[in-house]
Amino acid sequence: MSLIDKVTQSIYIDGEWLKVDEAHSDIIYNPAILEPLTTISAGGEAETKKAISAAHRAFKSWGSMSGRKRSRILYKAHELMLADAERLGEILTMEQGKPLKEAIGEVKGAAGFLLWYAEEASRSYGEWLPSSVRSKRMIVMPQPVGVVGAITPWNFPSSMITRKLGPALAAGCTVVLKPAPETPLSAIEIVKIFEQAGMPPGVVNLVTGDAEAIGQEMLSNKHVRHITFTGSTAVGKYLMRESADQVKKLSLELGGHAPIIIFEDADLDKAVSLSLASKFRNNGQTCICANRVYVHESVAETFQTKLQKQVETLKVGNGLEEDTDLGPLINAQAKDKVQTHLDDAMQKGADIVCGGDTAEQPDSYFMSPTVLAGVTDDMRIMREETFGPIMPIQIFSDEQAVIEKANDTDYGLAAYFFTENTSRAIRVSEALDYGIIGVNDVFPAVPEAPFGGVKQSGTGKEGGHHGMDEFLEKKLVSLGIES
Ligand code: ADP
Repeated sequence: MSLIDKVTQSIYIDGEWLKVDEAHSDIIYNPAILEPLTTISAGGEAETKKAISAAHRAFKSWGSMSGRKRSRILYKAHELMLADAERLGEILTMEQGKPLKEAIGEVKGAAGFLLWYAEEASRSYGEWLPSSVRSKRMIVMPQPVGVVGAITPWNFPSSMITRKLGPALAAGCTVVLKPAPETPLSAIEIVKIFEQAGMPPGVVNLVTGDAEAIGQEMLSNKHVRHITFTGSTAVGKYLMRESADQVKKLSLELGGHAPIIIFEDADLDKAVSLSLASKFRNNGQTCICANRVYVHESVAETFQTKLQKQVETLKVGNGLEEDTDLGPLINAQAKDKVQTHLDDAMQKGADIVCGGDTAEQPDSYFMSPTVLAGVTDDMRIMREETFGPIMPIQIFSDEQAVIEKANDTDYGLAAYFFTENTSRAIRVSEALDYGIIGVNDVFPAVPEAPFGGVKQSGTGKEGGHHGMDEFLEKKLVSLGIES
């Protein structure tokens, strides 16, 4: 049996899958071999409207159900997802390109969010506040926000969905999900898992198709009370502007431009292998991946030599092949952007330490992992999100000066540094203007901790109890009593 059918139902409303109408459909491609994978439905305003109505109707019972009952369905979904991780990983690799080991890891991580929020579902505690007068009692009552519009990106087609839907569903919200047009298949599989786990009709709905039309309906429909989005800063700003009309709640996980700082007292071997892992995981297509590296002058040469040695062993190829470390970029636009950043850096005087060639397969989306030295602050790669496998290295000599450079950006998602000095670890963590700091660590995205940016990297948190808070209104009940 083939893993993916030629035609795949992709719109799910009120517990029913819509038949694909070939006249309104989209073809999904495998970015490694540039061949069609399947055809799915191209929905728009009408489907989104129906999905929102279904979610609105389902909210009544789902929102008032006990957290324990919601929890059981989320536990079941977690179990089903884990049990099927290998097949789901393969589908993810075929639509997104990342190496199979990373894809299976992502699916397991995605299931981890369901487990965490299955546990949190019965823990939306309120408060009993002491009143300043004898004749009153005050209760803070957490209640689900309502219908949530969830818009997700292609770089983590599985975990970005459970990281949003897990807390929303645990809180008692119902959802209309719009996945990225490049990677709808993981979303379809996740919705099937919810269906199998016993999710009542209308609680989770899925609409694929025209992003603008679906987004516009989510924005203008009064039943949608919260929009949760991961994607580009430009689209995030648009959603923020357009949400103002109805004062909708928003959670936005936007772009980043993460610095990695290697101090002179770092464990260099650890710094090399983790910098490499941060930069080249998912081919550099991660909003928290290292975009620029600052190395202290006293260790710069050793760091670069060790790094080059490891980067040169990385294998580029189809993610389904066992030994692949870097798959293709997602599409031609992505490759053009990375190439533009590389060309700009070269033109302004950067030196290639290794990689830099794309000419071998000019029509493919593959690119060699590249390390650049001699980079200057005027290069685009030092200011704009590259989303590709290029690591620019700059040398620094002073702690205060490198902190200022690291903070000199409109982004504020993740920043990393390596040091073995505890005082420095605290001091620099406090000084870096970012929502997430990794000290001798580059994998901060876990179910139990809050993930989110500051400045133009977004607003709101995903993960931890903080992630569920986003989907709960805190209602005040002020009780007048006879005392
Ligand atoms: P990228 O450029 O990395 O694809 P985007 O921000 O364009 O990042 O995409 C992230 C998600 O936002 C995708 O699901 C995409 O379809 C969706 N999206 C893009 N434009 C809009 C829009 N105008 N309204 C709603 N969603 C949108």
